[in-house]
Amino acid sequence: MGKVKKEDILDILKGYDKENITIATLGSHTSLHILEGAKEEGFKTAIVCEKGREVPYKRFDVADEYIMVDNFRDIVDEEVQEKLKSMNAIVVPHGSFVAYAGLDRVEDDFVVPMFGNRDILRWEAERDLERQLLTEGNVRIPYKYSDPSEIDRAVMVKFPGARGGRGYFVASSTEEFNQKIEAMKSRGWLEDEDIAQAHIEEYVAGCNYCIHYFYSALNDEVELMGMDSRYESSIDGFVRMPAKDQLDISLSPSYVVTGNHPAVIRESLLPQVFDIGDKLVESAKKLVKPGMNGPFCMQTLVNDDLEVICFEISARTDGGTNTFMGGSPYSYLKYNKPMSMGRRVAVEIKTAIKEGKLDKIIT
Ligand code: ADP
Repeated sequence: MGKVKKEDILDILKGYDKENITIATLGSHTSLHILEGAKEEGFKTAIVCEKGREVPYKRFDVADEYIMVDNFRDIVDEEVQEKLKSMNAIVVPHGSFVAYAGLDRVEDDFVVPMFGNRDILRWEAERDLERQLLTEGNVRIPYKYSDPSEIDRAVMVKFPGARGGRGYFVASSTEEFNQKIEAMKSRGWLEDEDIAQAHIEEYVAGCNYCIHYFYSALNDEVELMGMDSRYESSIDGFVRMPAKDQLDISLSPSYVVTGNHPAVIRESLLPQVFDIGDKLVESAKKLVKPGMNGPFCMQTLVNDDLEVICFEISARTDGGTNTFMGGSPYSYLKYNKPMSMGRRVAVEIKTAIKEGKLDKIIT
């Protein structure tokens, strides 16, 4: 548990002018629709922007205030935090905010009110904790091997920390595992200390659906907001090559996300989609009190037995929400008007202000 306590944040919130809240975030990842959505709901917006990265925010005109910094990580600097608080800012976290600010500093030094459950961010970042959330909820996940000698079918081998899948590989036997480890080492993609931490799991031959949910702590409801699939380099370029050439050049693919496609899933799979979302929310309630709060994402693969298998989660706005800045087919069904994830967050904050329940959704 970090040093920033909810009580300290609630104290700061007491000093805020609730009629004059600013929604703020770091200029990267999903900040365009977070800020646009906030504006649509009538909030002022602020962006903490790295010098040289302001172009999209200016061209799309999503921010009322700019806090320019030399480096993204400066968002945790005292001076920046003071500026944010003076604007009555509520910060909406996203993947780059956590990556650049650093989890430790978010937990220990960032004393600005944040939307969502600050404590859950560590659970999505560490593979063992993430697995615990999923297994506690009985969500189907890829089978995990405890030792390379057990490999008896196609497996995917992963290493700690999201590194865009660099150094990840597939293998179908112990020999192939050993050969590929050596190859990755000679390429400088893996160090000796990584190898002991190799995470070996069942390779799921299936289609990718990253499912975006919003858990409303105010209504105790899990909403399906949208879906995307990833567009990853080099794997998605690689598969455009005839199989024979793929074999000839023996490239090891990487999975660096370069963009996203909007997706919809077969309607008959929607019961599973709601079921796994509900289960994750329930297990988060038990393991990371008070649990999920706001946007979360389950990255899944659907195999030809039509099982939805979850290989990763995010417990905050995921990058794939950029596929529905004007709403998705699912958010349309729910809201009958354009509803991005950013706007949904703003709606929740607005409702909480109106009902005097900000303490339920801020940490
Ligand atoms: P990172 O977060 O480090 O980028 P991921 O865990 O998201 O890595 O995996 C990268 C990509 O690898 C995913 O987008 C997915 O396409 C593929 N992948 C991950 N796990 C499996 C698996 N068990 N079986 C098949 N493909 C997988």
